[in-house]
Amino acid sequence: MRFEIVGVDGPSMGESPTLMPFVKGLEEVLTAEGDEKAGGEGSGTKVVFNFFPPDRPRPHHRGSQATFVVGITAGPEPEGDILQAVYPMMIRSLGNHLIYLVEPIAGNGVPRATYFVTLERGYYPLEDCAPEDYFHHVLDRVRPLAESRLVINNEFREDLPPGFWEGNERTQEIVIASRRMAEMDLLPAPFPMETLLPEKDFLHLKRLFQIGGLSYGNVSVREPGYGFWMSASGVDKSRLEHVGRDILLVRDYDEAHNQIILSVPPDISPRRRVSVDAIEHWMIYRRHPGVGAILHVHAWMEGVVSTEINYPCGTYEIARAVSDALATVDDPVHGVIGLRNHGLTITGENLPEIFDRVGPHLLRQVPMS
Ligand SMILES: [Zn+2]
Repeated sequence: MRFEIVGVDGPSMGESPTLMPFVKGLEEVLTAEGDEKAGGEGSGTKVVFNFFPPDRPRPHHRGSQATFVVGITAGPEPEGDILQAVYPMMIRSLGNHLIYLVEPIAGNGVPRATYFVTLERGYYPLEDCAPEDYFHHVLDRVRPLAESRLVINNEFREDLPPGFWEGNERTQEIVIASRRMAEMDLLPAPFPMETLLPEKDFLHLKRLFQIGGLSYGNVSVREPGYGFWMSASGVDKSRLEHVGRDILLVRDYDEAHNQIILSVPPDISPRRRVSVDAIEHWMIYRRHPGVGAILHVHAWMEGVVSTEINYPCGTYEIARAVSDALATVDDPVHGVIGLRNHGLTITGENLPEIFDRVGPHLLRQVPMS
């Protein structure tokens, strides 16, 4: 994959005992594995490694949605909740991912601990690796994520049949299920990105990804013959109201243009995009015709089949990993699949059936590994 390393000549980088050796080790292993250095913007950069000191997360403005940005910084072991300490650094640096190196470097030349942090608010330590393999392991964790493909663009078609404009029993199911999620406290408040970012950086993210703040959890219901209904992105799910704005009909996925096709009524303003997980739900409905509804939450259940790689939300790869995992369970229509370091995707006949079946077993804490 074509890579760029940025930030290494930034202020105070030379003072860090950890970052410069890390740059060197990373570059060596990238070269050894046949990855090529990109010549800058517009030369097909797949991944940018953005180094910065922890007190000054340097934003990297990427040229394209398809570029994956990994922030890398170093500091002491965070006190208390690691996520709370380092997640804002990732947001401020405009990264898709963050690697936090715990100083000082141990006698064997590698950081005392290495944490990977994801936009889905997952984090996990790099464990049990021999120092001579350290950079290979780091890259093994990053490579599949960086090479995954986002499917988050939407095409709006103003062709929603008038019979659906006021909703139906299935959109009502979504309204009720979303309220139920809020009552069960399964809907964390959207992450306040705009309060952490200067306006210019927030607008940059908005332009590239059309996001208004990160939020988690969503539901969908199949509409036989048409596709499926799904909650919109970034809306308060405890207050879904309008069909075509808060609840959207996903008709299909257009592979050639890599976008999700939505049917909306005419003259909806402002237009809202569908949840980034639409590609995952689309693939599940297509491959598993008996599935009538899907719930996604950032929670966990004992004994579930889980995906191996924590691909980012909204990628074709996470969609494939989840629907593949679903194909391995005895009853894919009533499946519970773990998304590693992330949450659960649960299939069912309809949403009330899903809640009744899994509600009592949900664990708030997602295990991280
Ligand atoms: Zn999620």
